[in-house]
Amino acid sequence: MDSNEQTSYQCSECQAGHVTRRYITYFTWLGDQLVSVPNFPAWVCDICGRREYDHQAILWLNMLLNPEAGKPTSKPVRKAPTIRKQPTRLGDTKP
Ligand SMILES: [Zn+2]
Repeated sequence: MDSNEQTSYQCSECQAGHVTRRYITYFTWLGDQLVSVPNFPAWVCDICGRREYDHQAILWLNMLLNPEAGKPTSKPVRKAPTIRKQPTRLGDTKP
């Protein structure tokens, strides 16, 4: 196991700050719903505040939120069966 994992690096935005791994609350829109993900791993600069989200975490999150994720796009999309509504016949009700 490699224990020499990089925990911080120089910020590419301001060149002065250090980007460190932090856990923040990530907000994203799912359709018209705002979804908050607590303890989301992100890389945050201590000088300019530049945020970079963990690539793996983003992939994982997209997989959770997007039901189409992981499905092959080359195949034609199967249409969902049309649900036929039974007409309500009010006149049939007998006393
Ligand atoms: Zn910075």
